[in-house]
Amino acid sequence: MAQDLAKVAKTKGIKYFLISFTDLFGVVRSKLVPAQAIGDMQKEGAGFAGFAAYLDMTPADADMFGMPDADHMIQLPWKPEVAWLPSDVYLGGKAVEHGPRTVLKQVLAKAKDRKFTIKSGVECEYFLLTPDGQSLADPHDTLAKPCYDQQALMRRYDLITEICNNMLALGWGAYQNDHEDANGQFEMNWHYSDALTTADRHSFFKFMVKTLAEKHGLRATFMPKPMAHLTGNGCHAHISVWDRTGKKNLMKDSKGELGLSKLAYNFIAGLLKNAEAMTLITNPVVNSYKRINAPRTTSGATWAPNTVTYGGNNRSHMIRIPDEDRIEVRLADGAANPYLLQAGLVAAGLHGIDNKFDPGKRLDIDMYEEGYKIKNAPRLPLNMLDAIRYFEKSKVLSEMLGQEFCGAYAKLKFAEWNDYMHHFSEWERQNALDV
Ligand code: ADP
Ligand code: MG
Ligand code: MG
Ligand code: MG
Ligand code: MG
Repeated sequence: MAQDLAKVAKTKGIKYFLISFTDLFGVVRSKLVPAQAIGDMQKEGAGFAGFAAYLDMTPADADMFGMPDADHMIQLPWKPEVAWLPSDVYLGGKAVEHGPRTVLKQVLAKAKDRKFTIKSGVECEYFLLTPDGQSLADPHDTLAKPCYDQQALMRRYDLITEICNNMLALGWGAYQNDHEDANGQFEMNWHYSDALTTADRHSFFKFMVKTLAEKHGLRATFMPKPMAHLTGNGCHAHISVWDRTGKKNLMKDSKGELGLSKLAYNFIAGLLKNAEAMTLITNPVVNSYKRINAPRTTSGATWAPNTVTYGGNNRSHMIRIPDEDRIEVRLADGAANPYLLQAGLVAAGLHGIDNKFDPGKRLDIDMYEEGYKIKNAPRLPLNMLDAIRYFEKSKVLSEMLGQEFCGAYAKLKFAEWNDYMHHFSEWERQNALDV
């Protein structure tokens, strides 16, 4: 039985609940419900018109309902009279199959059928901009190699520590904050959890960072490539597969290559095999393709992958083995839907485990400089349409994530691509005026 929210409101002094869902494009949508009304809402859900969000629905569809997951409630540390409730969307008494949180829960159920628990952590990079979103907020943040710049980090002490203190208060195990590789870019790390908890926290983290940045007169963006010549916003995902109880890490094997088990390599192979199709999930917007396959940034490297390859503790490949307990997928960016991101990675990884795929030998080379030496290293999709085509063809994703989800997602993404294609750019005029 989930906790009774009306009672929780009384004991914790909560006056309002945000009944919140994340749509297919990662937009977080909510109703703000007073504590007096939460009893009924917990049972019946909060009503939404599905077509008004990015879901595959029509204006004629009946109302859908956000059913709050009370056990995953997060009370806002900076405004404790409000609590955030991630919810699953329902229509006609049934979970909407393409609701992102439902997609994740269903693939995690498949992992559970195989007696696995999936644990993951995410690194959500972001930029701090002026409120109009046009320029870096800090005019003094100008180092050519700005990563770990202490001076620029400490100019943001008030905001960064406010966010970090909140994560500490929530018990997330926050452990470090730094200035990242682009001017104006930061990252804050907290401890990994089961994949659903990490997805909820990922969504909440973005909400928290944007909200507190606004409070400080700034604008935080997770946009994949907000500045053309600077490193983009990655969202690296670290994953490990544990036994049913969640106590034994099945990716570890002291006798295995780099301390990883056969199962870990099967998982890596699944990710490699499904990478092109998965890219529509990990890199979901037109701008995502300015971060991957990108020319060198002013700092010296993009730190984003171009090829479907893996290495050891080497940040120039799509997959890195940072330690003896997990793998890191460096493909995803800040636009990735937190739920679909986890779902896509788990789907691909399980496919590798189910088929005992072998990823082949890891590459120890600097892929940016020496990649040309590797003949036929598969390239990541070059743009969103390329990614849509791979996604549409993937039988693995449609089996693991559901046909309804894959159909809905491809349809909406294709409409977005067409919308983009109707946009006329100055580049076209420059390159075609005199043809
Ligand atoms: P890096 O910048 O070196 O890639 P970070 O320290 O920024 O790494 O982030 C590492 C993330 O990986 C954190 O969220 C951490 O909790 C998570 N992590 C560590 N061990 C595991 C594990 N066994 N399974 C999943 N995630 C893990
Ligand atoms: Mg109304
Ligand atoms: Mg990091
Ligand atoms: Mg980083
Ligand atoms: Mg990383």
